[in-house]
Amino acid sequence: MKLLVTGGCGFIGSALIRLAVARGHAVFNLDALTYAANPANLSSVADLPSYTFAKVDLRDAAATADAVRQARPDAILHLAAETHVDRSIDGPMAFIETNVSGTANLLQAARDYRDSLPHQKRDDFRFLHVSTDEVYGALGAEGLFTETSAYQPNSPYAASKASSDMLVRAWGKTYGLPVLITNCSNNYGPCQFPEKLIPMVILSALRGATIPVYGGGENVRDWLFVEDHAEALLAVLEAGRVGEVYNIGGNAECRNIDLVTRLCSMLDTARPATRPYAEQISFVTDRPGHDFRYAIDAGKIKVELGWRPSTALDDGLARTVQWYLDNEAWWRPILDGRCGQERLGTRRASPPA
Ligand code: NAD
Repeated sequence: MKLLVTGGCGFIGSALIRLAVARGHAVFNLDALTYAANPANLSSVADLPSYTFAKVDLRDAAATADAVRQARPDAILHLAAETHVDRSIDGPMAFIETNVSGTANLLQAARDYRDSLPHQKRDDFRFLHVSTDEVYGALGAEGLFTETSAYQPNSPYAASKASSDMLVRAWGKTYGLPVLITNCSNNYGPCQFPEKLIPMVILSALRGATIPVYGGGENVRDWLFVEDHAEALLAVLEAGRVGEVYNIGGNAECRNIDLVTRLCSMLDTARPATRPYAEQISFVTDRPGHDFRYAIDAGKIKVELGWRPSTALDDGLARTVQWYLDNEAWWRPILDGRCGQERLGTRRASPPA
């Protein structure tokens, strides 16, 4: 297939492109190259004839429509987004512009393009929207998110993704665009921007800096290795039922403090220092509106499409730690630009007078 991937220079998009190209697909990567992008993530495919890149900002409707016409895709996989919850607390409007308006621009472009296709190609066309489990809000100690859980987003990021999901659904219902939506749990793995929890912990530890843990570290996340997510996305694209939502999860719940401690002990083995890395852990003021627990019931994608995560959490974490140890040339320039290690997202509304 000829795939148009948005956000392909980011963490998950680049893993998806590497997999898609390896599977024999041609890929057109549309990315605005924001701070979160890193073209080096795609150095292994950059020179292949099956790979094309276009620097396009989804907030620009005309440029987006041009790119879609130029790419002539069989399917669009939409990953481009502002993705960091803490940044969404400090500056929510960027999230509305890219995640909501940008998605609407892409949907319009996809709709016009699909309408121009001959019959068979029009029927076969797919629009896969990649979203997050954060749209469902927070769970207590028990229960799992299913595809029918109510939307209760708590952060501006989650609200912007929830909005984009609604737009995708509406373009499917109203205009017959053959849409699919996936909602996935927290990803981790190589090439993740250092502002996210796992690379932040690894790189803070290696620099001898404080390893900040929000609140008491009690919050629980379900972790999925990024390559498993990429596999799931191709499975949904190839065999998912049009109009359906598929939850994707790692079946690997972990409290933040346990995750951080595990990473520290892996580093103690792989790169021993004069004292255990866990001594660098410091508990800091919690994120406003910090969701307590996310957990995914990934039964639907398993039963319908035969997908399940293949990387156990400890194996994936060990691979990730080793990747950051082996790839200082990837992360050093980001840290030297001081991007990705500063504390963000502490602003909340002023308390009532
Ligand atoms: P990322 O922040 O690493 O990358 C985002 C990419 O989108 C970057 O390459 C950036 O340049 C591009 N982009 C941003 N704004 C753009 C715009 N206006 N126009 C064009 N390109 C733009 O993100 P990620 O972690 O790889 O996440 C990818 C997708 O997966 C997102 O939609 C996110 O909501 C979703 N998701 C992420 C996770 C996770 O744990 N990281 C979990 C579930 C779902």
